[in-house]
Amino acid sequence: MVIWGDGPVADTQDFDVAIVGAGIAGSALAAALAGRGLAIALVEAQPLVRPELPASLAVDTFDPRVSAITPRSRQLLQELGAWRAVESYRSCPYRHMSVWDADGTGCIEFDCADVNAAALGYIVENRALVGALLERVQAAADITTFGGVGLQACSRDEAAQAMQLQLADGAALRADLLVAADGALSRVRDMLDFRTREWDYGHRAIVTTVEVERPHQETAWQRFLPSGPLAFLPLPGAPGRHYCSIVWSLKEELVDELLALDEPAFCAALGAAFEHRLGAVQACSARFAFPLRQRHAVDYIQPGVALVADAAHTIHPLAGQGINLGLQDVAVLAEEVSAGLARGSSPGQLDVLRRYQRRRKGENLAMMAAMDGFKRLFEQEALPLRWLRNVGMRGVGQLKPLKQQLMRHAMGVL
Ligand SMILES: Cc1cc2nc3c(=O)[nH]c(=O)nc-3n(C[C@H](O)[C@H](O)[C@H](O)COP(=O)(O)OP(=O)(O)OC[C@H]3O[C@@H](n4cnc5c(N)ncnc54)[C@H](O)[C@@H]3O)c2cc1C
Repeated sequence: MVIWGDGPVADTQDFDVAIVGAGIAGSALAAALAGRGLAIALVEAQPLVRPELPASLAVDTFDPRVSAITPRSRQLLQELGAWRAVESYRSCPYRHMSVWDADGTGCIEFDCADVNAAALGYIVENRALVGALLERVQAAADITTFGGVGLQACSRDEAAQAMQLQLADGAALRADLLVAADGALSRVRDMLDFRTREWDYGHRAIVTTVEVERPHQETAWQRFLPSGPLAFLPLPGAPGRHYCSIVWSLKEELVDELLALDEPAFCAALGAAFEHRLGAVQACSARFAFPLRQRHAVDYIQPGVALVADAAHTIHPLAGQGINLGLQDVAVLAEEVSAGLARGSSPGQLDVLRRYQRRRKGENLAMMAAMDGFKRLFEQEALPLRWLRNVGMRGVGQLKPLKQQLMRHAMGVL
């Protein structure tokens, strides 16, 4: 029995691992740790409900948040037994990628045939990913879920050498390892005083689903404008019906103006920004705007604590790498916990966590730096830089080995 601060008195439930946040990363980690003899708690502020596949296909039936899943992430989801459920919900492979700049002089094309792959990746609605992973979680006897109840407080109990968690409904948990998978605005990270380095891009991303006039050709389209990149990502359709998910990153001052337009005016502005490559933008669903901030935790670990995915790092969405990096954090942490158990180390021990941090920090930082450089290069309007950019794009396009290397890296198969 513990008495926690001024809160209610509750029995403490003991776990080996407590994961806070059942988004894509937290659910995947719980599923990855299942079956290893650990008692796992998964805490999620939102109710844990699996989504039903909408009966009809229409522009407003898609989740506005989608992820471009790399073949490497797909492999992980397959190993977790979740990919089949993702596919039976709905997803769209993209086999081709077309990137061009505002001037129309620099462009580069990627095709899965260049690297002998079936697809460059898959556009999947986030709710399909979470639903498929929750199915695995709910089938595992060693995972206890706490749905619809947020974490309210956490701290380290040095005497017990364990982490103490208090939930909003008064429940108290104790765990050898606490994993923060609670997203970009992680409460765990703040409550435990992890330091972060962050900078604002001065950009927000408008996210919506559109119906377009012409087939998307299973292509992920991206146009770089001085105001920010615009992506049209292919979604499943039906004969004569073609849908794309839009991520339109824009300078802060332009966003409210675009959000205030009525639907036909917004569709016209979007179509013009995209040079009408898929004909007219005929309809769009509700529009949402997400602030874009690059953030990286200085340390991913403390004794008994690990940060994963967006709680550890957030990256510009232009290359669709955010959750792919997060899923690799998950895979590596699960591997290191498992290897630690085999050596006789408990999951929260520093030697286990240090290995996780060492393996993930470099790769995450390298990807974040590359995306940042990319974005800055494409924003430049100075003539020499535009020339350099266009020559660079053409050069990469013509140098097959370099292009293949870039593609493999983006697909996570290096
Ligand atoms: C516009 C946009 C487009 C993107 N496109 C892509 C893409 O194409 N490909 C890609 O790989 N990535 C993309 N990303 C990034 C991707 O969405 C994130 O990396 C991913 O969603 C992070 O997953 P997560 O599980 O770490 O966090 P989240 O999805 O944020 O999940 C965190 C979970 O924790 C829960 N939670 C929070 N606080 C508490 C608490 N106190 N107690 C209990 N639970 C709590 C939340 O309810 C939530 O369910 C995009 C991001 C944006 C903004």
